[in-house]
Amino acid sequence: MAGFTVAIVGRPNVGKSTLFNRLLEQRKAIVDDVSGVTRDRQYGVADWNGKTFNVIDTGGFVSNSDDVFEREIRKQVKIAMEEANALIFMCDVATGITDLDADVADLLRRSSKPVFLVVNKVDNSDRRLEATEFYALGFENVHFLSSMTGSGTGELLDDITALITDEFLVEEKNEALPKIAIIGQPNVGKSSLLNALVGQERNIVSEIAGTTRDTIHTHYNLFQKDFVLIDTAGLRRKNKVSEDLEFYSVIRAIKAMDEADVCMLLLDAEKGITAQDLNIFSLAARKGKGLVILVNKWDLVKEKQTNTARDYEKELKSRLSPFNDVPIIFTSVVEKQRIFKAIEVALEVCENRTKKIQTSRLNEVMLKAIESYHPPVVRGTPIRIKYVTQLPTYTPAFAFFCNLPDDIKQPYKNYLENKLRENFDFTGVPIKIFFRKK
Ligand code: GDP
Ligand code: GDP
Repeated sequence: MAGFTVAIVGRPNVGKSTLFNRLLEQRKAIVDDVSGVTRDRQYGVADWNGKTFNVIDTGGFVSNSDDVFEREIRKQVKIAMEEANALIFMCDVATGITDLDADVADLLRRSSKPVFLVVNKVDNSDRRLEATEFYALGFENVHFLSSMTGSGTGELLDDITALITDEFLVEEKNEALPKIAIIGQPNVGKSSLLNALVGQERNIVSEIAGTTRDTIHTHYNLFQKDFVLIDTAGLRRKNKVSEDLEFYSVIRAIKAMDEADVCMLLLDAEKGITAQDLNIFSLAARKGKGLVILVNKWDLVKEKQTNTARDYEKELKSRLSPFNDVPIIFTSVVEKQRIFKAIEVALEVCENRTKKIQTSRLNEVMLKAIESYHPPVVRGTPIRIKYVTQLPTYTPAFAFFCNLPDDIKQPYKNYLENKLRENFDFTGVPIKIFFRKK
């Protein structure tokens, strides 16, 4: 099932990025106070009372020319209206209602999707009074917030999560076919890859309607295996006003990702991995999806010497760190090189993702690893890990039972993860590790 996606729209400097970080409860994004810069869009997963949803901060196209600026913002709002499930329209109490706010409000009032008007920077009671002017914009759902202090965000999250009905819950079933999403930025070769596979028409079992209209699911039978490919490649913009292909591609990549077990992330070999690719990669990892990277258009990489692929892979893995136990395949769709290999590997990752390690074997291996390298002593007390078990979750997760679960730090966690990966093949699969009190 498709995940629920909320887009934050509004003028620059109203506090979109601050709210985004607050919703994600992490401060990874750079909040830039300076106008006249372009800031990347940000994508993340919020979690509130056990319900998760995607959050997109539409970011800041900032231009010195008012015309360009207005056009860009309208464009983003339109895309967000088409692609998101709900919108947060953010204004700033300190500036009051601006012309651009009024313009955006006009657009949003026509939306069939729920819109939350969020008046931000309501840091104190004086501002709370001033904020009432925003009722004039004519929205039903109005929230007064201080993204900086977090006041009001709980109510907003309550209202958003109330919209996440069962149909949006990402549900996984063991008996279902493995689902592989083909994702990547525009022009990396997604459609070409699909066409190459569709060329093998006898392999197509059926077209399955995607759970949303924005993804296409195709049931294949190859290598005596049944699987479903999820793509968004064939889908183009719904109207030509929205020329922001990259924004489209990312929102759709997230939808495809939510419906998949494994994501095949295509890169353009000549361009290498971009910041946006890394964003998508870590989003998929955080969602517990399997990952395979296809370095496509490998035919265009000249002067191939024996080490070209190896060096490329090494460099790529350092960019992917810390989660870099991921298959990297050099493909050329035009020369039909390694495209079936890529599918084969994606299916292996699917299997790795559902792998269950026997508890006895797990303890035999891991207790030995712990014996040869203990966690550091805390306040004079040695940490003793007694027992480990794999949790009955869909994506691999392990609980280590010990005396001081809160005192084990990241480096040791990394050590355990590496040992798990060394001994049991979890290539392409994010692993979760928990420490519990014994
Ligand atoms: P964006 O361009 O819409 O993403 O806005 P930012 O999140 O970058 O915020 C712009 C500026 O407003 C930054 O200096 C923030 O620190 C500030 N800001 C954000 N939220 C609040 C708030 O609730 N109260 C106050 N006083 N300032 C805020
Ligand atoms: P999409 O936007 O990701 O679906 O990308 P397309 O499949 O439309 O491909 C964009 C362009 O890249 C097209 O002109 C393709 O012919 C070309 N292309 C795709 N794969 C390869 C490849 O492996 N090698 C080369 N040289 N060109 C490719």
